[in-house]
Amino acid sequence: MAPENSKSVTAIYPGSFDPVTNGHLDLIARAAVIFDRLVVAVARNYDKSPLFPVQERVEMLEAVTFDWKNVEVDVFEGLLMDYARARGARVILRGIRAVSDYEYELQMAMMNRKIEPQIETVFMLPGEAYSYLSSRLVKELAQFGALPKGLVPAIVEERLRTKVG
Ligand code: ADP
Repeated sequence: MAPENSKSVTAIYPGSFDPVTNGHLDLIARAAVIFDRLVVAVARNYDKSPLFPVQERVEMLEAVTFDWKNVEVDVFEGLLMDYARARGARVILRGIRAVSDYEYELQMAMMNRKIEPQIETVFMLPGEAYSYLSSRLVKELAQFGALPKGLVPAIVEERLRTKVG
């Protein structure tokens, strides 16, 4: 069923968020002032061996998005477009850091449009300071105790420290 053509626009920001970084937060801050409601949706089934279990990823996201009253954290599994339809979303939000992100994101967006033409994928660019930042890199650096300051929220830094020693 097509989503209602209402004026209130819900955007879904899907991802692994394993863990949330300041790059994700930068995008959330930009999107929260554009969309009426932003649902940060943690994918349960993307990565078979995540560092943080879904519940912990959600807890961290909830803590760091608490101040935005129109931002909600949720979990989904299965087809993203089924979830987006069920939530009555009009937009899928994705971040593009560099050209390297573009090819994969383009493929996903085109396929998602085929599945559900009524829902638009919107790409946003993070602040330059975060354009090289990924959860994968954060995890790798944390494992070597070499994570520079200012890349992840404090709660994530703490949990990384307990997780990887
Ligand atoms: P996925 O496994 O779906 O790529 P991620 O948690 O890695 O999940 O990323 C979720 C979304 O956030 C993706 O659109 C990704 O491009 C975007 N993203 C990740 N890191 C950044 C960043 N530093 N700046 C902007 N967008 C980002």
